[in-house]
Amino acid sequence: MNIPQTGLSKQEILAALQAFKGRDMDWKSGKVFCYVYDPGEDPAEVTKEAYLAFLSENGLDPTVFPSLLKLETDVVRAIVNLLRGDANAVGHLTSGGTESIMLAVKAARDKARVEQPHIAQPEMILPKTAHAAFHKAAHYLSVKPVIVDIDPVTFKVRAEDMEKAITENTILLVASAPNYSQGVIDPIAEIGAIAQKHNLLFHVDGCVGGIHLSFMRKLGYQIPDFDFTVSGVTSISADMHKYGYAAKGCSVIMYRSKDIRKYQIFACTDTTGYTLVNPTVLSSKSGGPFAGAWAILNFLGEEGYQRIVQTVQEATRKIIAGVNAIPELRVLGQPAMCMFSFASDSLNVYQLADEMGKRGWYIQGQFSTPLTPRNLHISITYGSAPNADALLQDLRECVEIVKAKEPIDSDSIKAMINMALQSPDPEAAFGQLAASAGLSGTELPTEMAFINEVMDALPDAVCNTFLINYFNDLYA
Ligand SMILES: *Cc1c(COP(=O)(O)O)cnc(C)c1O
Repeated sequence: MNIPQTGLSKQEILAALQAFKGRDMDWKSGKVFCYVYDPGEDPAEVTKEAYLAFLSENGLDPTVFPSLLKLETDVVRAIVNLLRGDANAVGHLTSGGTESIMLAVKAARDKARVEQPHIAQPEMILPKTAHAAFHKAAHYLSVKPVIVDIDPVTFKVRAEDMEKAITENTILLVASAPNYSQGVIDPIAEIGAIAQKHNLLFHVDGCVGGIHLSFMRKLGYQIPDFDFTVSGVTSISADMHKYGYAAKGCSVIMYRSKDIRKYQIFACTDTTGYTLVNPTVLSSKSGGPFAGAWAILNFLGEEGYQRIVQTVQEATRKIIAGVNAIPELRVLGQPAMCMFSFASDSLNVYQLADEMGKRGWYIQGQFSTPLTPRNLHISITYGSAPNADALLQDLRECVEIVKAKEPIDSDSIKAMINMALQSPDPEAAFGQLAASAGLSGTELPTEMAFINEVMDALPDAVCNTFLINYFNDLYA
């Protein structure tokens, strides 16, 4: 668009914005199993009002907006306490899990620069199940990711494999509680002991699960210790905007002490401009996400969170049992909380996701790796818990539909990919392949099965380039 010569009315603008949502997935239906964490109407309303009340305040300068300092330290302390840190534990609010992870890696890198200046190429050890945000941090911060395979039955990393990967350049160990893909918790206590033995920092990625798991523990569920009670754990990330049910734009990065956190903070007085001190990546930032997080914690309280977690876990138990009862499907590993993935030995799960999509359900496809089959992921939230029976009913029916469908010919797709890989201009060849699958230009795809099939078969590096090019075109 161009900026209109004369401004539109508020009604016109709001109507236009609402119309843009027409093609979005209807997350309010509770049929979208990722991206939106819905705490129900009343808590969402309180969060929204709190957010708007701090929309314009700027977190850049706590001396000008002491209210934001108060909101941030309150929320951080509440989550540090939930994750059983002591009085020395500290943290910051960030814009999301990715920023929290980025900062944990930066703190580790900069601590090593000071204390171990002989390390020219720092390394961090990542289970194959670690979130892609660590790879992004590695890429941005020039830390080398050292990937460790996982146990293909439990989908957890083995602590001894983490230890074997340690070199004199290692600056950080990483594990998840739980990982996103299969929802299982890595052996945090064992890895913590290894971190201590080798005097290494150890980050636990509790972005998605740190808060939910803590309330499960309080409800009496058997949850292995994954938080600051594990003495080797030096930092933890936990997203308020996931199972904290806050508005998006809020995560917590926590450290065992200020001695580590200080390496996260950046200051600069070398310019003609104002003095800059930034604890996080963002500099100017709305107070909205801080206020939203503060509001939801206080509105729900311990009781509200425990009620939500109990409801979600009951729905999860039902859904996992129901999925496993479908002969063609099997849940992978033993999920620790309300997120899991399932695979099939006999039918194409990407086709299953498309069929479910026609009925308004959004279920995320995940690609195969040498140790994990292709699968579909479901994260259950308070908003989707009431749909457990309806989900299972549609899954059973869609399995039958996919069984009766023409299967996707994986072998001929692999053959096409090999031809494209060997062609003089592989990028152009993949572009054509993608276009034939409906994935090109600025149009959004509707059926994903064929596209997923192609991407699953592509070598990772080629797939990454392809996706970058696709987005480079999509945002016209
Ligand atoms: C979602 C997630 C992240 C990244 O969080 P964003 O808020 O999307 O940046 C990191 N780790 C895990 C385990 C996650 O589930």
